[in-house]
Amino acid sequence: MSVLKALVQALGSGGVRVVDLTQTLSEDFPTIVLPPEFGPSAPVRIERISRYDAAGPAWYWNNLSFGEHTGTHFDAPAHWFTGRDRPLGTVDTLPVGHMVAPACVIDCSAGSAADDDFLLTREMVEAWEAEHGLVPDGAWVLMRSDWSKRTGADYANLRDDGAHTPGPDAGCIRWLVEERGILGFGTETIGTDAGQGGHFDPPFPAHHFLHGAGRYGLQCLTNLHLLPPVGAVLMTAPLKVHEGSGSPLRVLAMVEDNA
Ligand code: MN
Repeated sequence: MSVLKALVQALGSGGVRVVDLTQTLSEDFPTIVLPPEFGPSAPVRIERISRYDAAGPAWYWNNLSFGEHTGTHFDAPAHWFTGRDRPLGTVDTLPVGHMVAPACVIDCSAGSAADDDFLLTREMVEAWEAEHGLVPDGAWVLMRSDWSKRTGADYANLRDDGAHTPGPDAGCIRWLVEERGILGFGTETIGTDAGQGGHFDPPFPAHHFLHGAGRYGLQCLTNLHLLPPVGAVLMTAPLKVHEGSGSPLRVLAMVEDNA
């Protein structure tokens, strides 16, 4: 049987399920907050044009506006200065073959529950690999923190000295990029970097190393607890915005029942 025919049958029988890893894009979902000297992202706005009323008696539609980095969203290489000269570095030029790729899920939920500033280290990934095998070339690594179960102020977790949210340490993300050849790194928090990542060396190491190597980021993911450690296949197609640095997107995972 052809691979696609088998896939369609498995989707029909429930042997392969599709899991939604996307937060609802709404005006209430927290947006990243930068120090006041930097330009802020616009919030998500959803403005009614008509809903079966005088402005449109038979139809319903809205105008949308949002920053590229709002809600569950994709970071392209051009988002960071280290990736500014990467070929195919904006969302309109990304190779579409990269938009369907396997995912490894590393469960950091216990550490993140105990410590808002929990950091994923190379040693933790190596311990994960001892159990599940090496992170394959071209895979997403998703950091499960269960942060998506938080809402409102607890989700952004801002204090006087900035956000306190988990992420990878500099050595870990550099090693994943250089020694494991990952396609990208995904988190449940607002950034691929830890909330305090601006104080790391280099600052914001996930952005620095991922995008400098032409790799990608996913943020504000949810439902990572529904994925197996290995075996899921992610579909991540950002909007094809002219020279866009990223975009909100629907992130879907295909999961085998026996995975
Ligand atoms: Mn982003």
